[in-house]
This record gives sequence, structure tokens and C-alpha cells, in this order.
Amino acid sequence: MADQLSPARVERWVHGFVDAVEESGEYLTDLDRRSGDGDFGTNMVTALRRVREALAGAEPAAAGSPFQVMGETFLAHSGGTSGPLFGMWFRDFGKVGADTGAFTLAMLAEATANGWATVARLGSAGVGDRTMVDAIAPASEALDRAVDAGSGLAEGLRSAAEAARGGAEGTSDLLGRRGRTSYVGESALGSPDPGAVTIALFYRAAERAAAD
Ligand code: ADP
Ligand code: MG
Repeated sequence: MADQLSPARVERWVHGFVDAVEESGEYLTDLDRRSGDGDFGTNMVTALRRVREALAGAEPAAAGSPFQVMGETFLAHSGGTSGPLFGMWFRDFGKVGADTGAFTLAMLAEATANGWATVARLGSAGVGDRTMVDAIAPASEALDRAVDAGSGLAEGLRSAAEAARGGAEGTSDLLGRRGRTSYVGESALGSPDPGAVTIALFYRAAERAAAD
């Protein structure tokens, strides 16, 4: 099993993520209806379709190229609060992978840590605020642990995916303190935050792209 993520596998990751969000689009919008205004899934799917078009036929120059395309597409074309945040998130993955032919687990840990810092800074969101940060933070910590333990790529991404899913599920019990969800109070309880669920889909797609 390869211990680096080649551009072809990065593309598989990105396409797997786009497919997963598309399949979950209505669910994500429904989650945003419970905790915000109900535009999240639609906005994500629209932006990711543009990503798919932008990637079609392009030969990735570096491992991070697909993420650069995602970042620029989200920054130029996506709406809501989350659009620019996801744009900056993908851009951080693009930056770490800009000059390399393949991602190592350490690079993915670095990109995740950078992305966490960027989203936290731009959104003023900390752990426990009921945002995407609640899935990013545990994924980042899991990746750091995996790097320290010398884990393989697939194993490290599996632990990140599990941690992100756990973090996303945990947002069901949190009261929102950032964005629109902070206005709806207890009525959001019992449903997870859509941004956090999307981060969990992101790492699930990474796990799958590394696995076979
Ligand atoms: P809105 O419709 O409120 O403009 P979106 O529907 O585009 O926002 O995105 C909602 C998602 O964005 C939330 O599920 C949450 O994960 C994330 N989010 C919202 N506000 C913030 C913030 N200040 N910091 C980090 N993430 C945020
Ligand atoms: Mg919304």
C-alpha cells in the first residue's frame, strides 16, 4: 500500500468528497434549516459542481493542485458564511501540496493544522462553538498523534476520519455560539452542525482514497 497520496489519489479523494456531499446535499440543507437558514447543502453542491468542471481534463501539476482549484473556486463562487471558510480551508491543503508530487501523512497533518488555524481565525470559532471546527480539531489531533506514532498513511487517515465523525456527531449536543446557529438556541440540539458533518465527509473520502 502506498504511503504517499499521489495526485491520482488526491483526485479520487476530491471526487469522492464531491460525490458524498452531492448525495448528502438535502440532508445537509435540512441540518442547516434546523440550525441556521437552510442554504448550506445547496451552496456546497453548487460550488462543488463547479469544482468538478474546473478539474475535468486538467492534469494535476502537483499533489496539491486539485485543492488549489477547489480553494479558488470556493473563494470566487460560493456563498454563505461557510463558502469562503471552505475556500481558505482547501487553499491551505493546496499550499502544503504545491511543490510536491505526493502528500505524506505529515503533510496532511500540517495542512489540517494550518486549515484549523485559518478557520478559527477567520470565523473566531473555538472548539465547542458548534461549527466545522468541532470536526477539524479532533481530526487534526488524530493526525498529529498518528504522525508521532509513525503510523502509515491509510491508518492515519482512518483515525482522522473516525475523529472527525465523532466530533461532528458531538455537535448535536452543543449550543451554537457562532453564525446563524447562535440565534436558534436549543432548537438545534439533537442535530449535528452541517459544516462539521461536511468535514467528516472530507476525511472519510480521504480514508477511502488512501485505502485501496
Ligand atoms: P450562513 O447561511 O449562516 O451564512 P452557511 O450555511 O454557509 O452559513 O454555513 C453554515 C456552516 O458554517 C455551519 O454549519 C458552521 O460549520 C460554519 N460556520 C458558521 N459560522 C462559522 C464561524 N464563525 N466559524 C467557523 N465556522 C462557521
Ligand atoms: Mg446557512
